[in-house]
Amino acid sequence: MNSKTIKVALIGNPNVGKTSVFNQLTGLNQQVGNYPGITVDKKMGICKLNQVTRAKILDLPGTYSLNANSIDENVVIELLLNKNDEDFPDVAVVVTEVENLKRNLLLFTQIKDLEIPTLLIINMSDRMKQKGIELNIPLLETELKTKIALISSRKNIGIEYIKELILNYKNLSTEACLNSSSIDIEYFNRLKKAFPNQLLYKLWLVITQDVNFLNLERNAIENNFTRSHSDLKKLQQKETIKRYQFINDTLKITQKIDKSKATDFQSKLDNILTHKVFGYLIFFGILLLIFQSIFDWSSIPMDFIDTTFSKFSALTKENLPKGKFTDLLSDGIIPGIGGIIIFIPQIAFLFLFISVLEESGYMSRVLFLMDKIMRKFGLSGKSIVPLISGTACAIPAIMSARNIENWKERLITILITPFITCSARLPVYAILISLIIPEKRFLGFSLQGLTLMALYLLAFIVAIGSAYILNKALKLKCKSYFVVEMPSYKVPQIKNVALNVIEKTKAFVTGAGKIILALSIVLWFLGSHGPGENFDNAKEIVEKQAFADPEKKNSSVIENNISAYKLENSYIGIIGKTIEPAIKPLGYDWKIGIAVVSSFAAREVFVGTLATIYSVGNQSKEEATIKMKMAEDVDANGNKIFNFATGISLLLFYAFAMQCVSTLAIVKKETNSWKWPIIQLVFMSGFAYVVALIAYQTLK
Ligand code: GDP
Repeated sequence: MNSKTIKVALIGNPNVGKTSVFNQLTGLNQQVGNYPGITVDKKMGICKLNQVTRAKILDLPGTYSLNANSIDENVVIELLLNKNDEDFPDVAVVVTEVENLKRNLLLFTQIKDLEIPTLLIINMSDRMKQKGIELNIPLLETELKTKIALISSRKNIGIEYIKELILNYKNLSTEACLNSSSIDIEYFNRLKKAFPNQLLYKLWLVITQDVNFLNLERNAIENNFTRSHSDLKKLQQKETIKRYQFINDTLKITQKIDKSKATDFQSKLDNILTHKVFGYLIFFGILLLIFQSIFDWSSIPMDFIDTTFSKFSALTKENLPKGKFTDLLSDGIIPGIGGIIIFIPQIAFLFLFISVLEESGYMSRVLFLMDKIMRKFGLSGKSIVPLISGTACAIPAIMSARNIENWKERLITILITPFITCSARLPVYAILISLIIPEKRFLGFSLQGLTLMALYLLAFIVAIGSAYILNKALKLKCKSYFVVEMPSYKVPQIKNVALNVIEKTKAFVTGAGKIILALSIVLWFLGSHGPGENFDNAKEIVEKQAFADPEKKNSSVIENNISAYKLENSYIGIIGKTIEPAIKPLGYDWKIGIAVVSSFAAREVFVGTLATIYSVGNQSKEEATIKMKMAEDVDANGNKIFNFATGISLLLFYAFAMQCVSTLAIVKKETNSWKWPIIQLVFMSGFAYVVALIAYQTLK
């Protein structure tokens, strides 16, 4: 009796169960060799199909597509393009699995278009019920022009049917799924004329891949049909999109996934957590909880750090000999270090929560949920974490953008995050709102509260709008395929969480910390030094005035008046006065100018600076008194300085201006260049200026 051998190539994406199918088909009849010249294993096995026929099965390396990216994948293409190869298959068997059919079918359509008889195996049928998946196999066979074996290699179901299909491979249609010419009609028409006897898709693969295939032909193609590398990449992307369109259309009519019918616990949990309504509600509930905790929990260590550093600063002042060095230490270096350490609790807590959410597997669901919305604005689903964290502080928020893989999306996220209203803006908003918005109610809501909310909303809208514009304006080419693996839910490992928190905190201290410290020292210098006699003789001048005016004789008033006088004549004060013409159209005088300039170090400095300028006596009633003083302040014509127009103009300026050296420092660190923080500083502050100008000029 004449025995017959059918050559079979087993092909599929990684993790579809190809090896399991291979083992089921060949049992112990396996051999492992090597492909010549490379270190890729070549697995071959024999499967008896009937008395006279056997299949020689070659288990090819797992590959996602025929657009090769690795040596493993090249093996597959070289074999399928070379009819003269001794292993060139009579039939290609493509293995897929029920849960990732869409992704798996891309490879199937490519192989089918080589017009090799191709069979489709859909593995893991045992999971269909659990996952609520139904397939119309006869219709799928018609659409894909093939025969399908729906099997479970784990349960040994359907293996015999595969053998039967291989045996009858000659009945398989070799019709292509996609008309290759549609990738680029003109180009493919030329190809067809030049090589009338060749299969177009095969030529296309030869052009786009660097495969050793029929040297002569390759030379002929290279001489007449070269296109730039980027052109070819574009066409490859077009091909992929066309294939996915075909697959989507096919699956729409042949596959039904009813997640509500899924029975396993993970799927049930997924149904709730990625639900169109509940998914968002749960997510925002969790966020609310996280932010409450961040504010509540970090306020204790933050207060502690704050008082410790000011005590320490006072202690050095009292105990060290008076002089420049002591001043530098107690007013520059110590508060500077305090200004770094104070951020650590918020950073640590935020990353604690984020890593717990990531480790548990929940974060992937959220990103999936958000991706559709965020993508419209050039952001990634993963941008939601920085945007929300930004309401606490832009520094940890910008650091958390690190897990956005696509550089363009990450950059846009980093650039827009500082627009989000951070907690440092709150004290500024609080004092300005209480100055200009009456304590009245509107429909039962406090007008002041509504104004605060409006500022938060406005900031968010401007952030998202900027993302939209940046997405159009930035000419960065990074193709984004949002692939989040859906990991199974699990209890977070303490070690991973702790390591992540420590790593992020360390990155902040060593990265942004240095710059914050340096700039604090510069600001200290500018605020505590001045040119000329007025600054040096501040004490005598103020005391002389006090002598003339008995109302100012109180010693604490004198102290404060000296500070105010010094500030006015310091470098920062001079800067404030110099920029007065520029800020006058916004409704600000030089005092506000000083506060605005010093706020470029950090916004929260605004209140403190104004307190010094308005030389408030009673420390315990600081805010109330500054408020009163501010409310009473008038210009040369007797008009109020802090009127409604100025107040709104200032609120808008603080909402949009880039006033935080720490943020600039972290942006420099994360983008590894000064270019982006400078652009951010110029654009945000420019935008703030224009908005404040328009507001003041229309309202005054
Ligand atoms: P390969 O990477 O394609 O070779 O896949 P493997 O054969 O290594 O299988 C990948 C994973 O899928 C393994 O964990 C297998 O146990 C699992 N697997 C394979 N076949 C089945 C099946 O029919 N049902 C289920 N539930 N799991 C399977």
